[in-house]
This record gives sequence, structure tokens and C-alpha cells, in this order.
Amino acid sequence: MSRLVAEWIWLAGGALWFAIRFPHQRRARKIKVARSVGGRRDQLLLASSLTGLAIIPLFYFLTGQPRFADYTFRPLWGWIGVVLLLAALALFYETHRQLGRNWSVTLDTRKKHALVDTGLYAHVRHPMYSAFWLLAFAQAALLANWVAGFSGIVGWGILFFLRVGQEEELMIETFGDDYRDYMRRTKRVVPMIY
Ligand code: SAH
Repeated sequence: MSRLVAEWIWLAGGALWFAIRFPHQRRARKIKVARSVGGRRDQLLLASSLTGLAIIPLFYFLTGQPRFADYTFRPLWGWIGVVLLLAALALFYETHRQLGRNWSVTLDTRKKHALVDTGLYAHVRHPMYSAFWLLAFAQAALLANWVAGFSGIVGWGILFFLRVGQEEELMIETFGDDYRDYMRRTKRVVPMIY
């Protein structure tokens, strides 16, 4: 695999990522929001994630900048990136399917919100965020540039660590002891570890 092929694979993965999300975004618009807690803070976190996972690497893809941060591409890393990307896409697809009408981009609950704690959600509380971590690591493996490769881990990491506690608070307020029990049974993003 060449450097250029790895960059095109990253782009194709990004396009599929948006394609997976698109129908859910459309449907979500029609489902009434019961409670919204993220506010402006959550909008900023989303901007951080979008900058790191899309804007910076896309700019690099189109312009080759910042060139000073390029390093030697290793095909093995490219292949590792492909595996991570495929895993991320499969998990992203499946978590959208399992979360269904309860999904939101921002920190909201929907009318008749249901706690999902089966399927992938029986193993970890935030499998969609696990998919985002896999995507961020895939980007780092596929783009041989210190800035464009690692911006995803940074931008996404900021969103994740500043949001996940607030999201769990919202779930506790909504589902009470059901969610507290669920927290005792599960980890956040990596089964049995974290
Ligand atoms: N953090 C989850 C969901 C991401 S979508 C994951 O990574 O898979 C974000 C929305 O999902 C939040 O606004 C919250 O209302 C909802 N949510 C989070 N966990 C949920 C669960 N276990 N069941 C139902 N809805 C959930």
C-alpha cells in the first residue's frame, strides 16, 4: 500500500461514516426532544471533534499541508489502519441500529426514551463512542502526518472526556437506579477494562 492509497482509504471511510449516519439524522429530526442538557458547551465539543476528525485531515488530503509534519509512510501501518477503519464502520453501523430512535447528536433525551442495555450495550455503555475511538486511531494509522494523523485523537478525545460524565448524569436523571445498576454491570468503551 502506498501513502496516497492510504489517504484515499481514509477519505472513503469518512464518506461511509457520513452515509451511515445520514438516515438516522433525518429520522431524528422528526422525533420530539424531551430534555436537552448540552447547550453551547456541547456545540463547542462537537466542533472540536469535527475539526480533528474531518476538517484538519481533509485540509491535509487536499493540500498536503502541514508538510513539515509528514513522516515516512509504512505499509504495515496502512493495513492496521484499514482493519481499524472497517471495525469502526461496522460498530458505527450497528450502534446506530441498536440505539434506534434514542440516538441524538447532542445530549438530549427523546419523548418515550428507552434505556438500551442489550446487544452491544450489554457489554459497554458507549459502544458508539468506542467506534469513534477506532475511527480516530484508524486516521492516525492511515495518515503519515503528525498533525493530520493525530488531530482526530485529540479533537475526539476532548469531546469524549468532557462529555461522557455529563451524558451519564443525564441517563441517571432519566432512568435512576436502572442506569446506576447498568453502570455497575458495564464499562464505558472497552469491555472489562474502561
Ligand atoms: N454514548 C452512547 C450513545 C451516543 S448518542 C454510545 O456511545 O453508544 C448520544 C445520546 O444517546 C444521548 O443524548 C443519550 O440520550 C442517549 N443514550 C446514551 N446511552 C444510552 C442508552 N444506554 N440507552 C438509551 N439512550 C442512550
